[in-house]
Amino acid sequence: MQKYFFILLTLLLTVACSNASKKKSETEKPLLTVTIEPQRYFLEQLAGDDYSINTLVPPGTSPETYEPSPSVMIDLGKSAIYFRVGDLGFEKVWSARLAENNPDVKIVDCSVGIELMAGDPHDHVHDHGDHAGQDHISGSLDPHVWSSPSAMRIFARNMLDALVKTNPERAEFYRENHRHLSEKIDAVDSTLTALLTNAPSRSFIIYHPALGYLARDYGLRQHSIEFEGKNPSPAQLKELVDLARREEISTIFVQRGFDLKNGEVIAREIGAELFEIDPLRYEWDEELIGIATILSRQRDEQTD
Ligand SMILES: [Zn+2]
Repeated sequence: MQKYFFILLTLLLTVACSNASKKKSETEKPLLTVTIEPQRYFLEQLAGDDYSINTLVPPGTSPETYEPSPSVMIDLGKSAIYFRVGDLGFEKVWSARLAENNPDVKIVDCSVGIELMAGDPHDHVHDHGDHAGQDHISGSLDPHVWSSPSAMRIFARNMLDALVKTNPERAEFYRENHRHLSEKIDAVDSTLTALLTNAPSRSFIIYHPALGYLARDYGLRQHSIEFEGKNPSPAQLKELVDLARREEISTIFVQRGFDLKNGEVIAREIGAELFEIDPLRYEWDEELIGIATILSRQRDEQTD
């Protein structure tokens, strides 16, 4: 008897749930979900007005402590495609949950085909443990590919392929958009090359090491204040100050949403300038050019 009651209850719940999901507005555009705002910059230009785009991590939030809001997670479940950056730690957690609860959402890893760098074992070990809401736990690989235009060429191509596969009738439109986007990426690359080729200091300090691929592509060195995803110990801080003196570092970056304090301490100690940057900002092109402009500006100060 009890068994039948249980089956009946299950049936009732199933009916109730499917009714609720049918209530969603039919006139709304289909959804796509991305993890961070720079991805929306690319995807909007590729998809045009065909889709609404839902971002899991809003600008200015710290991805280390972030938990997505319920409404953002509901939109994720309704999306035709979820575009992961690739190996951000929380993406693994959410993708697993998503695949379990919404098997119809296609999950695309945008970093496939990009040659991933090992995270510098001293600067930054991506070893935060298995906690949802933390930035990245990808073993020793650096997931911050979006600071590199050359990596973003592959990234955009992956997005294009997924759009074409999901909506083949619109393939020509997406391909045409992709041609324009590729020209934009090339233009950003040229601007960065022009700004960074003769930047006098090849070395900078950053709180959270989000610019590794930019450093790789343009011959710069990134040193992270954060140590294994945490604030550095006094001994580690002293080591970093010594290194900064040796390499004559004059630029310190702190990503918006992270604590400025350690950056300020080092800046004061070595007489460097502190800049707040926002690598998670939607305006991907402006942000990278802004960062390169800061790095190139040192020359003028030093020749004065
Ligand atoms: Zn990060």
